[in-house]
Amino acid sequence: MARSPSTQTNRDAARGNIRMRLEQWARNPTCEANTISAVRNVRMAAVARAAGEEVAFGQSPFAIARGNQFERDLFRDDASRLLPEIIKHGILPDGASGFLDLRQRRNGGTRVESLDEAIDQTRALVARLGKAARPRHPDFPTIVAGASIRVPKGILLPEAILIIDALAIRLDGGRPELIVGEIKTYPDRGGYTDPAELAVARAQAGIYVHGLDLVVGELGLGKRLEVSRHGFLVLSRPGSNRASIRPREELHYQAERARRGFDLLERAAAALDSDLWAADDTNVGDVLARAILSAETTYNQACLSFCDLASRCYRRACQEGDPAILGEDVRRFLGNLNLARAVALLGGAAPLDEAERDLVKRIESARGMIAP
Ligand code: SF4
Repeated sequence: MARSPSTQTNRDAARGNIRMRLEQWARNPTCEANTISAVRNVRMAAVARAAGEEVAFGQSPFAIARGNQFERDLFRDDASRLLPEIIKHGILPDGASGFLDLRQRRNGGTRVESLDEAIDQTRALVARLGKAARPRHPDFPTIVAGASIRVPKGILLPEAILIIDALAIRLDGGRPELIVGEIKTYPDRGGYTDPAELAVARAQAGIYVHGLDLVVGELGLGKRLEVSRHGFLVLSRPGSNRASIRPREELHYQAERARRGFDLLERAAAALDSDLWAADDTNVGDVLARAILSAETTYNQACLSFCDLASRCYRRACQEGDPAILGEDVRRFLGNLNLARAVALLGGAAPLDEAERDLVKRIESARGMIAP
């Protein structure tokens, strides 16, 4: 079926910013409102503003400036700060050297003018690596900043672009190995580092591993190059701008999760009503905001950590007696049962069906454990 020009334009525009949107969607994939927001690239902050809600998740300009400064320092003078740390943690072998800067000039890079140039050079580098008889340094860099890949195929994502913060290249094994690194500005507090922040960083690194898999596969170099299932995180040391490295981050599951996430998001995009593709998202106060605000929602406690509509959905869940407001454990324990009904059963009301009888049995057994 032929699509109207505006529908096609909107599908093209929706390809941008895919990493962030995939992560947003993956945090609550069963929420229809969240799916529309992720697929149509409509920021929840804008929707929340349109609904008169307070916006809580925008990044502060100071945090962005600090992040940029941190990254610039790491890569300054041919990555002279980062490289020794990476070697010290065994990600690259002793004596590794050679830095390739593929960040765009406007993002602090030193030699690349455009994203297309970064993508072409990354692809050329991967192809050269895979085809070289005995790839060795210094013919090849050991660390690449801003390696950029175009994710092939798909309805929504044929040209989704991923930019890898730091890519280490190891050449001392059987095959050249590509090792993904993700840079975050927040401090590494050992066992006290925020687990949710770390989970997001690992998930992002997993998306890059999946993206590299696709590029290597597309070039037919799967047997000649290895995309490592272990990556590394670069955080800051508390109270300083120096790097703290977390090596050997397991990314196997994260890459698989990214692969499934891309497929599911594609399917979600294909299933969206054509009216939503025809809508003009330059005015988010209208069609798309209304569609998101009237869509089905499935509130859960994770919403509080990422979605600007969380307060609104929490209020609605309270009114409906949704057990999700008491956390995932309670929701699982009560199943689909409304909180008011659960309280009635706790107070001795007669169960009406098998699910309620089962719940009463579990409540009785829990009571026995508390007061034998
Ligand atoms: S806060 Fe509401 S709209 Fe946002 S993901 Fe959760 S349920 Fe969906």
